[in-house]
Amino acid sequence: MTSDGLDTAPSHYTQRIRSPREVWAGVDIDTLREKFYQLHIAVEQSPAATAITDTDARIEYVNQRFLDVTGFTREELIGKTPAMIQSGMTPEHVYRDMWQTLRSGRVWKGELQNRKKNGELYWESEVITPVRDDRGRIVNFIAVKEDITERKRQEDELKVLASVFETGQATLITDPEMRIEKVNQAFTDITGYRAEEVIGQTPRLFKSGVHDRAFYARLWEAVLATGHWQGEIWNRNKYGDIYPLWQSITAVRDAAGEIRHFIAVFHSIAERKQMESELERQATRDHLTGTHNRRAFDKAIRQAIRQAEQGDATFSLLLFDIDHFKSVNDSYGHDTGDAILQRLAERASEGLRSTDLLARWGGEEFAILLLDTPLKGAATFAERLRHQVAASRFQGLAITISLGITEYQPGDDLERMLARTDDALYRAKRGGRNAAVVADQQT
Ligand code: GH3
Ligand code: MG
Ligand code: MG
Repeated sequence: MTSDGLDTAPSHYTQRIRSPREVWAGVDIDTLREKFYQLHIAVEQSPAATAITDTDARIEYVNQRFLDVTGFTREELIGKTPAMIQSGMTPEHVYRDMWQTLRSGRVWKGELQNRKKNGELYWESEVITPVRDDRGRIVNFIAVKEDITERKRQEDELKVLASVFETGQATLITDPEMRIEKVNQAFTDITGYRAEEVIGQTPRLFKSGVHDRAFYARLWEAVLATGHWQGEIWNRNKYGDIYPLWQSITAVRDAAGEIRHFIAVFHSIAERKQMESELERQATRDHLTGTHNRRAFDKAIRQAIRQAEQGDATFSLLLFDIDHFKSVNDSYGHDTGDAILQRLAERASEGLRSTDLLARWGGEEFAILLLDTPLKGAATFAERLRHQVAASRFQGLAITISLGITEYQPGDDLERMLARTDDALYRAKRGGRNAAVVADQQT
């Protein structure tokens, strides 16, 4: 019902009504008094604010609820008109329609914004009924009102929500049971799902399997405790791809504190993630061969030393250097030299386990970290690599490498281990190259 709705009373309502004379015919004055008293109590205690005015709209009676709602006393209201509680916010035509309807004897229904004695605005849904006497003349109006301020507030809130809904970020609104009620175009753009494919479902549809139960438990704990959560979350789109989002989830509560909706707003951070991992790659990888750089290797080997110091793990370190590489460059050019370095790095990484680490140590020298590998295993590995390289062609050329091998010793630091391995490599070179030499573990 809109505020300018001109509802006529249902016909039976005015026609079947019996006149007071009919109703009270033959009733003695005591019974009459008792019945009046009963009616009066009923109206006084009604939860609907009720007012009776004369035909000039002067207030003759208001019930207790009316006083409670407006904050006025009976003395302040009786004899006045409802202009007392008008807010000045209602368009003139609404009152015009109201009076036209009432004077023609019809019931008026509408919504009005009124003002309490303390100045506070509130919304009422009103039904005003003309009251007729035995001869059918309108003698009073009776207004019955219900406070709809909270409903109006929610309607306004929804209007605001709706206006931000179609702009900007992907948005999803659920009911308190987390059933999806509404999604916007940006949501469809990111997830691939059209509105009709997800409405009625829960966001579990988007679970990627990336996060464990504890993650979702923490998330919902935060939403329920603080009304809000935001963070990075990986979801699965309609086509099965898993992608990272930055998402915020808000619980929308009504005036009584009950959750009415959950609203999730998110945007894709796939690009940002990709950029981050590219930067991370650039910071830890050698640009020519794609193997780890010296900095990353340094970090890994210090970590391995710390672990070995805890007692229960050992590891080995390999350094290898291409034999007579200068003459390769001189004869075939620097570009061929570079291509050989790339192929050699590929070849060396083929035999590695996921816990091993290959790095370009510098120039044409590489290092390999072999976790959980004692010296004997490392020596075997080195000898196999030496053999494989010697048996292969790189850019059509035969090359060989020399290797130095050492195992972690209690009390070792990075410098001591490197010096030992370097020494072994030097001995491999001096002994004629194309050789793998185990370091003197005592030094
Ligand atoms: P050996 O190790 O057997 O003693 O002799 P070598 O000729 O390999 O000597 P050294 O290890 O000192 O070699 C360094 C040479 O490696 C110098 C340079 O020509 C070559 N080199 C170093 N870095 C690169 C690189 O990035 N690209 C190319 N193409 N060549 C490089
Ligand atoms: Mg060399
Ligand atoms: Mg060298």
